[in-house]
Amino acid sequence: MQVMEKIIRHLRNSEHVLIASHVNPDGDAIGSLIAMGLSLEALNKKVTFYNESKIPTVYRFLPSVERIVQHTGETDTYDTAVVLDCGDVKRIGNLETETLNASPGYPTVINIDHHTTNTGFGNLQLIDTSACATTEIIYRLIGKMGVPMTSDIATSIYTGILTDTGSFRFSNTNKAAFEICNEMLARGVDPYNVAKHVYGRYSMGRLKLLNMALDSLEISYNGKLSMMTVTWDMLEETGTQNEDVDGFINYARRIEDVKIAVLIQECRNGNKSCPPFRAKEIADVPGKFHVSLRSDGAVDVAEIAADFGGGGHRTAAGFNIESTISELKSGIFTLADSIA
Ligand code: 5GP
Ligand code: MN
Repeated sequence: MQVMEKIIRHLRNSEHVLIASHVNPDGDAIGSLIAMGLSLEALNKKVTFYNESKIPTVYRFLPSVERIVQHTGETDTYDTAVVLDCGDVKRIGNLETETLNASPGYPTVINIDHHTTNTGFGNLQLIDTSACATTEIIYRLIGKMGVPMTSDIATSIYTGILTDTGSFRFSNTNKAAFEICNEMLARGVDPYNVAKHVYGRYSMGRLKLLNMALDSLEISYNGKLSMMTVTWDMLEETGTQNEDVDGFINYARRIEDVKIAVLIQECRNGNKSCPPFRAKEIADVPGKFHVSLRSDGAVDVAEIAADFGGGGHRTAAGFNIESTISELKSGIFTLADSIA
């Protein structure tokens, strides 16, 4: 039996399904979570929509987004957990140890994803690295389940594909992206409304933060690696949050001759005893960072991220690290030397 049929059969036999996606969710993580959850509800399943992080403002227009909880209730009530858009089960955050590893009665884990570095975790895996987004896989699954495509589900799928393909500009943009989005429009999606929410407005603080982030740009000697740094201090000064940094790395990526773009982001909820600092002033205070990597396709940044314990796709990947900013930066700059 094909894995998709096995998954559908398992879901049909489930009573209470927990749906989770990765921390600091993007449009695909939230879109696939909502689309999958609403579809299972259409099959009369009890569903818990879960994400450990606060949902970024730009995605709060999505239908049923208010259903997503940051904390789960009883640990032993789910018979199935569907983990979406996560290359590694740890990407769902604390839930991994609190619920999925809880014994007795821990749920069957279904892993649905499109990352090349997916570890193959869980009991059933539906991994398609050629899919432009996890929402592309969810679209196919929903079709096979025979669930009617409502405008709410369509809006979630459309938003996932739109954002994960960078509005049909990134290398993962495929034929299916256009075909599915075209169909979603026929199902009632209003593309202008989605674009308005996702890309339409910047707070003044966010623009100031962008200004600081652009000012932080550094280029390797050979011009092939660009690095942007966003510190906790910058967020405090501009009254912004981590979600406001989303998309900034694309400026670093677009610089002529750059093959790898890097964005170092200090984690606001990281080491609380770590004082705020300015990247250029105090470079040797230890802290927790999220590092985003982008490539023009020549270099596989998922491999680099995996070396640091993270993962992702060939052209977009990331990892978390505890380090001083100076050590982190010099370690990353050495990567530039091996770029052809
Ligand atoms: P971002 O730059 O948004 O952090 O991540 C880019 C891509 O890499 C996304 O597809 C994201 O899911 C993946 N990614 C980011 N951080 C990690 C990580 O720590 N572990 C894994 N496995 N994937 C990551
Ligand atoms: Mn994705």
